[in-house]
Amino acid sequence: MDKKNIGFIGLGVMGSPMAQNLVKHQYNVKGWNRTQIDRAAPLCDRTLVTQALENGVKIVSTIEDAVKDADFVCICVSDVPDVNEVIFGEDGIVHFAKPETIIIDFSTIGTQAVKEINDKLRSNGLHFMDAPVSGGDIGAQNGTLTIMVGGDDRDFQTSLPIFQAMGKNIVHCGSIGNGQAVKLCNQVLASIHMMAICEAMELAKTLNIDPDLMIKVCSTGAAGSWALTNLAPKVASSDFAPGFMIKHILKDLRLVTESLENQTLPATDLATQMFQSVAELGGATQGTQAMIRAYQK
Ligand code: NAP
Repeated sequence: MDKKNIGFIGLGVMGSPMAQNLVKHQYNVKGWNRTQIDRAAPLCDRTLVTQALENGVKIVSTIEDAVKDADFVCICVSDVPDVNEVIFGEDGIVHFAKPETIIIDFSTIGTQAVKEINDKLRSNGLHFMDAPVSGGDIGAQNGTLTIMVGGDDRDFQTSLPIFQAMGKNIVHCGSIGNGQAVKLCNQVLASIHMMAICEAMELAKTLNIDPDLMIKVCSTGAAGSWALTNLAPKVASSDFAPGFMIKHILKDLRLVTESLENQTLPATDLATQMFQSVAELGGATQGTQAMIRAYQK
């Protein structure tokens, strides 16, 4: 089989392990990250670029280098302006990708943005799919992500082996933007779950119950969830390392609010306030499990 070439843009918490999994599945991967040096600063994750290099991703210094020979371009950056910048900026993908290249965006940026990007890329002879993910850094490392894809069926079928190198549950949700729509529902669920975890932990403390006992018992019953199993132990040990940063969940909840039409989601609003108050305590780059800090002020 021909080894396909992939350009991977954005080697952060998610992008770096995802690119490494593509290498494990025999793809030639050229990776580009905006910040290219390792800095030893606390909470600076550029060591992830080094990790990608050590695991077979060829690190290049321009987007042009990453995409000019690519059959597929994967993007995993932060927010709407960032995706627009790496695609349409002065040195962006659109200027260097070969005609017919399939561009897959794994960032969470909402439905409206991906529809606009799709229109512009199609008029430039390029293909585009939205493919936001769930499963956290652990899912990215283990290649077990849930991937919610929006776009043409033909592009989806062509790209399926790439998705399978990074994820386990890969669902074509429909036309462009539908992956983002399902992902925003996921973020509402995840945010309110985090509030439920924090409140159960606080109650356990009040009732003199060991939090680890509560987590162990409740995980096996009707209240069990991915978050209870994977994030509640981090809450119990005050391990606030990301994971999924509070600044990113606030971005996702902003995208949820922007999607609403004359509607309010009261529990989502409350979760947003809790995350916001932790961000104001300096926790924007901590994992979402740091929401507990809002209860302990
Ligand atoms: P991250 O660790 O903060 O990485 C963000 C990446 O985007 C970095 O490589 C950063 O480069 C790059 N970037 C940001 N703005 C850019 C710009 N204007 N131009 C070029 N590159 C830019 O974030 P992450 O956790 O990997 O998340 C990436 C996306 O996946 C987000 O949309 C997030 O919502 C989504 N997501 C994350 C998780 C999770 O658990 N972490 C789970 C599901 C989905 P620098 O290194 O230069 O800053």
